Parts: sequence; structure tokens; C-alpha cells
Amino acid sequence: MAKSNKALIIGGTGQDGAHIAKQLLEQGWDVYCGFRRGSASKTWRLIHLGILDEVTLVNINIDEPFNLTDVIKSICPDHIYHFAGESFVADSFIHPVTTLQANSMGTLFLLESIRHIAPHSRLFFTSSSEVFAVPEPGTLLNEDSLVDPGNPYAISKMTAQQLVKMYREKYGLHASIGIMFNHEGPLRGRNFVTRKMTYNLARLKLEGGAPIELGSLSASRDWGSAEDYTAAMIETVQQEQADDYVFATGNLTSVRSFLSYAASAAGFDPVFEGEDATEICIDKSTGATIAQVAERYFRPFDTSARAGDTTKLNTHIDWKGSRPVADMASEMVMVDIDRRNKGITNV
Ligand code: GDP
Repeated sequence: MAKSNKALIIGGTGQDGAHIAKQLLEQGWDVYCGFRRGSASKTWRLIHLGILDEVTLVNINIDEPFNLTDVIKSICPDHIYHFAGESFVADSFIHPVTTLQANSMGTLFLLESIRHIAPHSRLFFTSSSEVFAVPEPGTLLNEDSLVDPGNPYAISKMTAQQLVKMYREKYGLHASIGIMFNHEGPLRGRNFVTRKMTYNLARLKLEGGAPIELGSLSASRDWGSAEDYTAAMIETVQQEQADDYVFATGNLTSVRSFLSYAASAAGFDPVFEGEDATEICIDKSTGATIAQVAERYFRPFDTSARAGDTTKLNTHIDWKGSRPVADMASEMVMVDIDRRNKGITNV
């Protein structure tokens, strides 16, 4: 890969942005990480990966069409990865307007900028498994599954996805869409349940204190590895034809099982007692409570369990799939223990 190839990552300080920045640097790309004005403190992920000095940070506000246009004009990127926007599904009920503004209108501004200024640029857009209708139990969702979004976040992603598809078909942009199932790792934000658990398991391991309070332990997700997904994204953009791809593992894991994997990796001996709102997780070796259910974390409108079928991705780019969820849980808790040992508790 020639050194002069330029990749612009919009949302370059987030989980996916940081992983893909590192992978692109390793492949010889010049990497520009777009971040929202005022979120400079979020560079912790780039610091964690040791690449803060290797990328060029660029202020980007996806709500500002002229700002986007200016950035694209000055960088003239070959590839653009678009991860920016509101990503917390539960909050989208509280902030529906900002969610649609950032996720749908922001994507439209970007598409217009590309069309007018850099139509040669290839785009990768991240949509979400949330766009799909509630699936029949036991079936896997693929690129052709019925779309029927059930929350403001999902509607914002569906709208953006349709826009990307339309610009691909009508204006000939090379714009691919990743329909992303949940993806996690040590760079996940603490408001997501996997990282909330591993962060607090590290706290309990090294300092003790109050048990982790969680919502439904029976809720389940198709949890893959962010790092494995971003590596596959790079390959999809290099395909001759732009296309839509599901990124998933095909397996559902409950919050309870994830907690069990992570707690065991941290050296606890987790057992579960009680059920529903009174369920607790105990460390059998000491009798201490690791986690308990707190009703305030129950979601009134939680998304149904859903898992994805990656046959298309596997075929088109010869993808080997995501690492197993138990390995990921173990890696996440070990990184959180290491951070806490170093006194890092604010990321
Ligand atoms: P989401 O799928 O994008 O909403 O990702 P989250 O990590 O926020 O939530 C995944 C699942 O975990 C959902 O079904 C939540 O209801 C469930 N869950 C259970 N307890 C918690 C909790 O304490 N925090 C969060 N964020 N989710 C929880």
C-alpha cells in the first residue's frame, strides 16, 4: 500500500475508529482521525493503542455541512470510514432529535460532501442490527432480512443506511454498509454492559467494595470483537463493488454468561442465586456478592435478542470470523485489571 493513501475516520476517537486507525497505520495508510470539538479528552483510546502521535487529529462536526465539506476538500481522502454519531440505544428515547440529527442528517451531509467534492472517495458506513424487525426465535438475520426499526437510534440508522444505498445506486458512489451487531473490547465505553462489568470486576478484584448493579441478566446479545470487525471492514472497502454486509458471530450470549466468563477470568468463582429482580452473583470461594440486579437498570423498551448470519462477508472477503466471546470477556477484564493496577480509573 503506497504511503500516500489517505484514510479519514469520522468518529476516529471512538472504539471502532481507534481500532481501524491502528490497523490502517499498520497497512501504511496516512490516517486522519476526525473527532468532535470538545471531545479532545476522548483520545484515551488512541493513547491505549500507542498511536496518538501517528495519526492526524481533525476537528469534525457532522452537524455542520460546511465544516465537513472543508475537511474533505483539504484532506481529499481515498477512503472514508464513518462511525460518528449517537451510539447508545437506550438514550435515544431521551434524545430522539439529536439522534436523528447526528446519525441521519450527519450522514446525508457527508454523502453530499463526497458527491460534490470527492466522488472518487470510497465510503464505509456503519449501520446497526437494530434496524431489523423482531426475528423468529432461532433464525439468523442477514442482509435481506425484514427491516422494521423499533427505537429512535434504529430509525436514525435505517434512514442513513437507505441514504447511503441511494447515493451508491443513483450517483455511483463506492459506499459500503456494515450492518453491525454488538461489538466489544477493551476500548468499549463504560455505559455498555460488557465493559461496565469488566471495569467493575477489576475494581472488586483489586479494591473490593459494592457489588455491580445490573439490569436483566437474561438479556442476550450477539457479541463480537470490535477489533476483528474493523479488520474486516478494511477488506470490504477494498472490494471492487461496494455492498452491504452483516457483521456478527451468529451466537447469542446472555449478560449472565458474559459476567461468568469475565469473573472467572479475573479469578472469581461465580455462582448465581435467586431469579429475576432478586438474582445475585456470588464468589463461591469467599461468599462475597459480585453482582446484583437493580430494577432501575431494567429497560422499558429493550431490543429483542438477535443474531446475524455472515455468509456473505465470509464468502466475499474470506473472513475468518470474530474471536469467541469468552476470550473477549477474559481479555477485557485483564486489560481493566492492568489499567487499575496502573491507577487508570477514568477511561
Ligand atoms: P445495546 O444492545 O446497544 O443496548 O448495548 P448495551 O451494552 O447497553 O446493552 C446490552 C444488553 O444488556 C441490553 O439488553 C440491556 O438491557 C442489558 N443490560 C443488563 N444490565 C445492563 C446494565 O446495567 N447496563 C447496560 N448498558 N445494559 C444492561
